[in-house]
Amino acid sequence: MTDDMIKQVAQAIADSHNVVAFTGAGISVESGIPAFRGGQGLWDKYDPIEYAHINSFLHDPEKVWQMLKEMDDYIQKAKPNVAHNFLSYLEKKNHLKGVITQNVDNLHQRAGSQKVIEFHGNSNRLRCLSCGRVFSRDKISLEEIPPRCTCKSRLVKPDVVFFGEPIPSAAHEEALELARQCEIMIVIGTSALVAPASTIPYLAKHSGAIVIEINLEPTSLTKTISDFFLQGSAVEVTSLLWKEMDNIDHKE
Ligand code: NAD
Repeated sequence: MTDDMIKQVAQAIADSHNVVAFTGAGISVESGIPAFRGGQGLWDKYDPIEYAHINSFLHDPEKVWQMLKEMDDYIQKAKPNVAHNFLSYLEKKNHLKGVITQNVDNLHQRAGSQKVIEFHGNSNRLRCLSCGRVFSRDKISLEEIPPRCTCKSRLVKPDVVFFGEPIPSAAHEEALELARQCEIMIVIGTSALVAPASTIPYLAKHSGAIVIEINLEPTSLTKTISDFFLQGSAVEVTSLLWKEMDNIDHKE
């Protein structure tokens, strides 16, 4: 990543009113929430493919809730970082149309982003699998797991998409629409290995968007569709872009 690349990317964003961000677990790593990939504590202990499958949840909810409780501890302690704040700033400045996120940690919303498409749901909500009642996370105690609904008959599950479950249709439609019509897609902290979310940057590219990728390491997108690959952490790279955009603002 060179200074010249940062300047070019910042200028392209500053010139556009139609940027869309697509984010993954990597954007929240510097907020203290481990990603699935990249060898971080939680997932050495729990195989995400096994624990995050709906069949595992239905088969042994107590076991899966043990993992969910640990993940919940990370999420409750986390605060939005510079990268979340940068996207919220871009929206306020009318450059960004929305964030499509695979994350369930609510950090974009807490950073002040208004248009957030929750592709995989939000762990701040929990849903009873029997009566469908939705609870806010702060109304449910995790002292005893698995938590139960007041209807007592069935289990409560975080309102997130497990492997083996469909993407909520409204979120899916909206994400496809934003991806199809954007001029620039900024992809931050995703391995782009989880489908169908991983198809979103390809759709943007094939619809004519410039793809800007920010990641610690190259991914399958890097050599195929990324026009700019800004290698570094989400906080490091967005701090540089933000500084450069401030310079552009002062010149205008
Ligand atoms: P992933 O774990 O598959 O990949 C994480 C990516 O982020 C990797 O490419 C890694 O190189 C990169 N990365 C790690 N630290 C980074 C940093 N500081 N800055 C920039 N990049 C960094 O994540 P994914 O692609 O989002 O897919 C996994 C699924 O896991 C998603 O569906 C998501 O819902 C779920 N998940 C969500 C959270 C969360 O809500 N915070 C956390 C873990 C997993």
